[in-house]
Amino acid sequence: MTVSGSAPLLLWLGISLGAQTPATRDFDGEYRTAVQGAKDAAGFEWLGTLVRTCLLPESGGEDTSDNVPEFVANPAKVPLRDTWYAEPAKVFDDLYFVGGRIHSSWALPTREGIILIDTAYPYNSEELIAGGMQKLGLDPRQIKYILISHAHSDHIGGAEIFQKKYGARVAMAAPDWDTVEKYPNRYKTMAPKRDIVATDGMKITLGGRTVTIWTTPGHTPGTISYTFTASDRGRTVNITYSGGTAFNFVNNTADPGIRNFQTYIDSQKKIAQKAAAVHATVLLSNHSEFDNAYNRNRMLAGRGNGPHPYEVGEEWVKRYFNVMQGCARAAQIRLEQRQAR
Ligand SMILES: [Zn+2]
Repeated sequence: MTVSGSAPLLLWLGISLGAQTPATRDFDGEYRTAVQGAKDAAGFEWLGTLVRTCLLPESGGEDTSDNVPEFVANPAKVPLRDTWYAEPAKVFDDLYFVGGRIHSSWALPTREGIILIDTAYPYNSEELIAGGMQKLGLDPRQIKYILISHAHSDHIGGAEIFQKKYGARVAMAAPDWDTVEKYPNRYKTMAPKRDIVATDGMKITLGGRTVTIWTTPGHTPGTISYTFTASDRGRTVNITYSGGTAFNFVNNTADPGIRNFQTYIDSQKKIAQKAAAVHATVLLSNHSEFDNAYNRNRMLAGRGNGPHPYEVGEEWVKRYFNVMQGCARAAQIRLEQRQAR
């Protein structure tokens, strides 16, 4: 195609550029809309997740340090037991809470052994998980699989210990296996030997029970989430497990922050679809801050014949992921605003 003469070209360019100039965006308005959407979705059920992702300050840049954590280097720096201890709880017929006041771990017993999801810290995993199981009549030597939602010390903390002690298989996604290998000091005593590389749609099956793994990168590059079932007084309950929540990724610059938020948002949309597909009515997490596990465990004692305190229903499960999406979108809009200046 040729353009003869400069006037038509300029005219064409002028029109074209004019048409492509975006209307001035109302970034503040867009931000408020996104936050309001998250607030509406949260209601009173998901206030902890709303506060963490919409209201509290985000962590910023990339952590490339490789230091031995204080609680590993110096036993005197281990947080006081009162700050983390929680009683274990039988939550469903075949799902046990063996976590702490802040961080959660979950045991799924089967006739061929136990699947354990997340492992708290190295300093409390023995008491909370192994001790908690024993209190509830489970044998920790029966742990066959350990699923690590992501490689942060509050969830991977007991994986090396239990892998060595019980010969349990450990599953984690490749990017987080890489992180563990890259930072030997940061993961001192918390570095299980690379074992099962979790992939999207992978099924971990043991004794007739299956946990399906879904890759949900965002919180960390290798964050994984799950769908599985449990039994509530004989009735099957569908559960979705959200593996990573706070905005820990690099987000203090538009590039790569905008992209990183998009990865996070896409993952929440994806796991929300998986939850809807199995009609999940229970949302679990690895922090009580998000799923209210600690309080729900105490409510269980007074349940009687009423509804199960963890069973919030399909609509609330969907709303959980809308909170995460809305808050991530709000933060992403702020970065877009910064980029536009
Ligand atoms: Zn984390």
